[in-house]
Amino acid sequence: MTINKYDIEIKNAEKEIADFFGFQIENIEIIIAENRAEYEKLLGRKTAEWEVGNSNLNKKIIFLLDPEQWTKEAPSHKPEEFPLLVRHELVHIYTNHLSKGKPIPMWLFEGLAGAISEQYKKVNIQYFETDFCSKLDTPFNWNQRTNSGAYPVAYLFTHYLFNKYGIKKIKELIQLTPAYYSYNGFDKIVFNILGKNLSELEKDFLENLE
Ligand SMILES: [Zn+2]
Repeated sequence: MTINKYDIEIKNAEKEIADFFGFQIENIEIIIAENRAEYEKLLGRKTAEWEVGNSNLNKKIIFLLDPEQWTKEAPSHKPEEFPLLVRHELVHIYTNHLSKGKPIPMWLFEGLAGAISEQYKKVNIQYFETDFCSKLDTPFNWNQRTNSGAYPVAYLFTHYLFNKYGIKKIKELIQLTPAYYSYNGFDKIVFNILGKNLSELEKDFLENLE
């Protein structure tokens, strides 16, 4: 762990996420980039304005853009949400550990991070596509919708599942995910564990929205 000015926030987040999952992953490295140019250098690519956190899942390294720069370099984020971002990225590392690197659908991967970090509380959304789990599953599908509600839908839906079925079932879902992702293959696992398939769960979720 690199010592830095956000050490207390990071330690709190690490403890909270470890407690939540019921085990602790050691040696997660967190690197804070001073500005976007440095952040892009660390990631080795250009980034969109909304990107402020990223993880190298296998190496267990989290890259964050210093929240002091957010007002200028990431105006869609509020600097006080930094602790939520740390939790979000930690959840990704824990999820990847649980799945043993097997691919899980993007809506669940991102949704879990947003549900556990409580980022779902900050979202506001009015449009839901029909069968959205089939449109937010692969990285290709997901990337086409990051500007049109992918994160908020994933956060809210996963929060719903998590609230209704509990962390134990969600952990099972991640652990029993097949070695190769396909919508139907994953849907079968969902049915086996939660007793309903994805389209039924989407319907339940929409009926329960406030
Ligand atoms: Zn994420």
